[in-house]
Amino acid sequence: MSGPVHFAVADGVAIVTIDNPPVNVTSHAVRQGLAAALDAAEAAGVSRVVLTGAGKTFIAGADAREFAAAPVEPHLPDIVRRIETFPAPVVAAINGAALGGGLEIALACRARIAAPGATLGLPEVTLGIVPGAGGTQRLPRLVGLGPALSLIGEGRIIQAQEAETMGLVDAIATDPVASARTIPISARPATGALPAPQPDAEAIKAARQQAARRSPGQIAPLKAIDLIEAATRLPLDEGLALERETFLDLKTSDQAAALRHVFFAERSAMAQGKAGGRDIASAVVVGGGNMGAGIAYALVGLGISVALVENDAPGVERARANVARLYADAVKRGKTTAEAAAAEQATRLSFHEGYGALPPADFAIEAVFEDMEVKRQVFSALDRALPETTILATNTSYLDVNRIAEGLRHPGRFLGLHFFSPAHVMKLLEVIRARTTSAETLATALRLAGRLRKIPVLAGVCDGFIGNRILTRYRQTCDIMLLEGALPAQVDQVLRGFGMAMGPYEVQDLSGLDIAYANRKRLGWRTKDGFRYIPIADRIVEETGRLGRKTSAGWYDYEGGKASPSAQIDAIVAEESGRAGITRRSFPDEEIVARAVTAMVEEGFRILEEGIAANPADIDLVMIHGYAFPRWRGGPMHYAGRLGLPEILRRIETFEAQDKLSWGVPDLLRRAVRDGLGPEDLKRG
Ligand code: NAD
Repeated sequence: MSGPVHFAVADGVAIVTIDNPPVNVTSHAVRQGLAAALDAAEAAGVSRVVLTGAGKTFIAGADAREFAAAPVEPHLPDIVRRIETFPAPVVAAINGAALGGGLEIALACRARIAAPGATLGLPEVTLGIVPGAGGTQRLPRLVGLGPALSLIGEGRIIQAQEAETMGLVDAIATDPVASARTIPISARPATGALPAPQPDAEAIKAARQQAARRSPGQIAPLKAIDLIEAATRLPLDEGLALERETFLDLKTSDQAAALRHVFFAERSAMAQGKAGGRDIASAVVVGGGNMGAGIAYALVGLGISVALVENDAPGVERARANVARLYADAVKRGKTTAEAAAAEQATRLSFHEGYGALPPADFAIEAVFEDMEVKRQVFSALDRALPETTILATNTSYLDVNRIAEGLRHPGRFLGLHFFSPAHVMKLLEVIRARTTSAETLATALRLAGRLRKIPVLAGVCDGFIGNRILTRYRQTCDIMLLEGALPAQVDQVLRGFGMAMGPYEVQDLSGLDIAYANRKRLGWRTKDGFRYIPIADRIVEETGRLGRKTSAGWYDYEGGKASPSAQIDAIVAEESGRAGITRRSFPDEEIVARAVTAMVEEGFRILEEGIAANPADIDLVMIHGYAFPRWRGGPMHYAGRLGLPEILRRIETFEAQDKLSWGVPDLLRRAVRDGLGPEDLKRG
């Protein structure tokens, strides 16, 4: 049999192998191949069928390329049904990942044998859908309500060991095919013939509450829970029909489209790490503060030798303590042992006061204070201390990367790597291409990003790059709404309702008002031409010393850690409205969302127009992974596309008519609307 499904018979047992590299997805050809293999097995009158995958995967799910298309026969539920009702028992030899449709196929088998390293899961809700080939009906019959709620409702992926404990797999074996050939199964009923799981109203209620907390605004997890609940009271066929209907419904939903968009964007961003460059074995990190310690810790974890540089002895001590805290935390959370942590630090991490005794290194990353002169001095020292082949990177948040590079002997090896805090946790990495950065330097940095399992996004040089530039614009827009009549608590609540993890004022209280203040000062906002300066935040810092949670007062008052609106802040806001001659008015919630999000989109178009980002999807990734924009809305650019760019244009024109200084239609947006294009058509290169 040719094609992606192989068929062989030995000693009366059919071995059906799915061979659809790289990860054996259930593409149309695979579904056809499975149907043909089952026909052949039936014709041969075999006593058993063993189903397995070639390579390292069993079946990793559906074919992403078919996600948005209409289903084509044979449908997966039909294959699954055929397996379950096949005259001879079918046994799954789960040699590697069995995910989504792959696990649904395995569930329909009479028994499941997993390799020790296999992973299993039904992660459909993370793509805005529910399992569509029986997963929500068979899994609870097999393992009970609780484990099914956790696996399907959360889209959790588990290891073979846990799967065996919950009864999802019958046994673990290093040669699952050999075991699948011989495991006794005569008395075993098909999964679909098992009795319905016991109802448990409390468990369902708790799962719903948890889903609402964990993924607020998302439909699919709640639908999945409904379907699992239905399994407790509907006969299998009715449950399956309901599941299929829900699946087809969700598949074409806005949320599924958004989550698919993000999935593909992440995949192509991460693929950049595999496109060349060289592997680094040693690195220098300058500055062991919040960011530098996290970066050093992440690099050491990859097996890279790291020399951490501080200016003076107290700096070295602080850096040591910062790194030690990260290791202690990892030990506490069971990610490593105290012995392994100590050994890793002893062999691969050294601390240095100044540059005198630095070993040569392949890569150097600077994470010192956000100050142009300090950074330039650091790079001039690195230029002298390190070989001319060492790649030099700055972790600046806003500063002009081209200026930092001035004076380097070999500026082609310089670039920006903008990590997010905490650097060893956050997946986003803005990779900033300076005017002089060479292709080789970029490729090596992207390769390192790949090893760090980051999502790298290329950005050009401008103030704040992609993310902080949009953040600045977003906050400015919110401040203007305060001036015109809104209050911080309302803005925060409404934007949380839209799906942001936190409102803009809550975030500032968390990170400290002094940080943004220093940045506004550096940018000269107070006197900047063509810019509407809103003094509220500056007055809070200068006149009240309210710096956020760390001073127990910021945009909010804090009592026992609990935030409540502040009369003092409201008074400053009202005073500034008066001073600007504005009669305060009430703001409908929709207007707050429209203004805040449209501001992000307008800035996004400018960023594209200036070539700072090459691809609207990159802007979406930055805002989702760096600034907690709701993933299920697909990021601001995708969201704009769903709303329709003509609507975005109309909004900007309306806002511009009221406030010419703050709003303006980017040419790129006007052209896109004229040509009937969506954001996805604006990708370059
Ligand atoms: P931090 O104050 O926690 O750490 C800075 C460290 O640099 C300190 O330990 C200090 O002793 C050391 N240092 C200062 N001057 C030095 C010099 N000349 N040589 C060697 N060491 C020196 O600051 P941070 O939050 O880690 O930020 C560092 C950089 O990373 C800044 O450019 C910042 O803008 C950027 N950044 C910060 C964040 C964040 O969320 N904190 C996120 C992304 C980027």
